[in-house]
Amino acid sequence: MNLGISGRWALVCAASKGLGRGCAQALVQEGVNVVITARGSEALLVTQEELKALNPAVEVRAVAGDITTTEGRAEALAACPRVDILINNAGGPPPGDFRDWDRETWLKALDANMLTPIELIKATVDGMAQQGFGRIVNITSGAVKAPIDALGLSNGARSGLTGFVAGLARQKRLASRNVTLNAMLPGPFDTDRLRATLAGAARATGKTVDEVTAARRETNPTGRFGSAEEFGAVCAFLCSVHAGYITGQNILMDGGAYPGTF
Ligand code: NAP
Repeated sequence: MNLGISGRWALVCAASKGLGRGCAQALVQEGVNVVITARGSEALLVTQEELKALNPAVEVRAVAGDITTTEGRAEALAACPRVDILINNAGGPPPGDFRDWDRETWLKALDANMLTPIELIKATVDGMAQQGFGRIVNITSGAVKAPIDALGLSNGARSGLTGFVAGLARQKRLASRNVTLNAMLPGPFDTDRLRATLAGAARATGKTVDEVTAARRETNPTGRFGSAEEFGAVCAFLCSVHAGYITGQNILMDGGAYPGTF
């Protein structure tokens, strides 16, 4: 299937590794020019080279910076001649007990996982509507659909984003102009973040990382973790010309882990 987005420009936030990288890779393979961001420049530059090698016909620009800051967002936007596609992503907040979290901790989580995507949407969405094409995908979490107790900061901040976007996506001035806003809700994907969580669980329980990893895989109906490539392919489809009638949706991608019928 030709996704019909060759020559478009995408800003893919937090994309030197993991799910963001998977999205950037899939878009590059479809002929989309990308601006990728991350705080650390080392992995970012390696990813930039790898993406360029995958498709020398597209432009791959790398912007090192923290996307949760005003400067980080301004630099990322400035590097993108036109944002046709916006993939919102950032690191997830730490686990813990809400009794230990003060106002500052909450504000940091809200900044990263709710207000940063909203700021980037605000900066781009009306331009998308004007040109009659726009695709926004927010990477959130399966925790929006089924909260994870230890990830209260994530449950709260991402649900706030989800509620806001649910309203925005249905604005006629956006939906009737071929601008869609959707979220992808990852379950367990084989990335650095998941590996760090598994290492933490191993330390806490005295088990080996292999034991904890095998047990976690077994709890998923597929018996495995998802891959960033699979995630990226679904993201690229949501960004395609074929997905113009999908908006305001939350696409759960978790190997069937969520046990409900709907
Ligand atoms: P990952 O493998 O750790 O990759 C995170 C990427 O984001 C890296 O490129 C990192 O680079 C960049 N990044 C982090 N914070 C940033 C910031 N403030 N500004 C710019 N770049 C930033 O993580 P992942 O597994 O892909 O997770 C992506 C998102 O999905 C996270 O919000 C995570 O909570 C969520 N999620 C993941 C899973 C999963 O199983 N993997 C499940 C549910 C939800 P630098 O560190 O150099 O900045």
